[in-house]
Amino acid sequence: MATTLIKNGKVISTTGVIAQDVLITDEVVTALGAPGYFAGAEQGADKVIDAAGKYVIPGGIDVHTHMEMPFGGTYASDTFETGTTAAAWGGVTTIVDFAVQNTGGDVQEALASWHRKADGNCAIDYGFHQIIGGVDEQSLKSMRYLVDHEGITSFKLFMAYPGVLYSDDGQLLRAMQTAGEIGAMIMMHAENGIAIDVLVQQAVARGDTDPRFHSLTRPSPLEAEATHRAIVLSHVAGNVPLYIVHMSAGDALAHVAAARHEGRNVFAETCPQYLWLTLEETLGRPGFEGAKWVCSTPVRSKDHDPDYIGRMGHGHQADLWKGLRMNELAVVSTDHCPFCMKDQKEIGIGNFAQIPNGIGGVEHRMELIYQGVVAGELSLERWVETCCTSPARMFGMYPKKGVIAPGSDADVVVWDPSSKTTIGMDEPGRKHHMNMDYSAWEGWVIDGKVDTVLSRGKVIVENDAYVGTKGHGQYVKRGLSQYLV
Ligand SMILES: [Zn+2]
Ligand SMILES: [Zn+2]
Repeated sequence: MATTLIKNGKVISTTGVIAQDVLITDEVVTALGAPGYFAGAEQGADKVIDAAGKYVIPGGIDVHTHMEMPFGGTYASDTFETGTTAAAWGGVTTIVDFAVQNTGGDVQEALASWHRKADGNCAIDYGFHQIIGGVDEQSLKSMRYLVDHEGITSFKLFMAYPGVLYSDDGQLLRAMQTAGEIGAMIMMHAENGIAIDVLVQQAVARGDTDPRFHSLTRPSPLEAEATHRAIVLSHVAGNVPLYIVHMSAGDALAHVAAARHEGRNVFAETCPQYLWLTLEETLGRPGFEGAKWVCSTPVRSKDHDPDYIGRMGHGHQADLWKGLRMNELAVVSTDHCPFCMKDQKEIGIGNFAQIPNGIGGVEHRMELIYQGVVAGELSLERWVETCCTSPARMFGMYPKKGVIAPGSDADVVVWDPSSKTTIGMDEPGRKHHMNMDYSAWEGWVIDGKVDTVLSRGKVIVENDAYVGTKGHGQYVKRGLSQYLV
């Protein structure tokens, strides 16, 4: 029996900041006490972590990653080993990745192949959502099987990428009806892919092939329209729980806010790239450099689009930060889907439509959202809620994950608010551990730092070193969402 004591820190939960010591026995938290309460146990403890002047928070949970995902003739450059190690460096102790059934493929075979990629390779715990890229009798049957036997309770559908992952409205409705019968969550990539493909073809034909046209051919009204359509379909299917992924636009968010105001089970996540990056400063850079920031949904203009429909005068980022404060956005994930510039993003030189879609970010979410706390956009409590606790509750992992409480897995991060982190790889001393040849966040300075990370009671990051092991991470079988109204 191994005992670990974390003392003198301030424990942050969704409800407040309290000076508390945390006692851990083997893999679980066994007690919280007033500072000094465990002085007796300290004598025999195997490890004592002094968190004086630091915050103690539940390990981060990133519910949207794509390790080794095939896309556009190549693969996301992080394996489960490199990606989960980078996640650990970023204070993340659980990821939920997406097993992918492409149109015409078999769901259970797809899931088995994702298990093979992850099994024995992960530094931290992991679960899976299942992408349904082809809604038919067989895949609907598989949805039931996965809920009953595999601990997979959330299914992602696509309103974009015709021919690869796309479902039409009838298929969306059928999958939603099945989800309603089995209590599962539908996750939606909400962009009108049919209209987008027309705009893309027209842009390429005009010779508008630079990376910035990736965003300009996916205008925010086409995200808003798809978001609204998904909400309507989930309503018609019987108030089936709906979670819109990677929300990037204020006009899309307005539809989620309205549905939530009606008391509907409609939720959404956003990602750091939409909160901090703009089209002008990233995709719009000269030459091919903008390819570094090609992801879908796209990074948007600092102002609303000219054809924006809805509340005016704010800009997408201000809308998204406000949405996070108001719980219109419940979760921050990363949509971590890294590609190197060399041989991967470069496939799209001369044609933005061929650039693999994705940004690497699993390492930096806790840092970038903490910077929102420093900037006055969020409270400390809301940082923990959107990055740790709500992800666990939304996807059926609470209270095993997402909270520091007796009986919970001892997934804990000690956060140092008085140190700094400089993200990037271009100069010594900068922080970057993802398997990429660039950082989307090069030179960004964070007023805080991941100090120590524990995964199920085992220290995996301390003293600026990764001390974890490949294969420590276990598969998490998830229950149904605990977040429904
Ligand atoms: Zn997506
Ligand atoms: Zn994604």
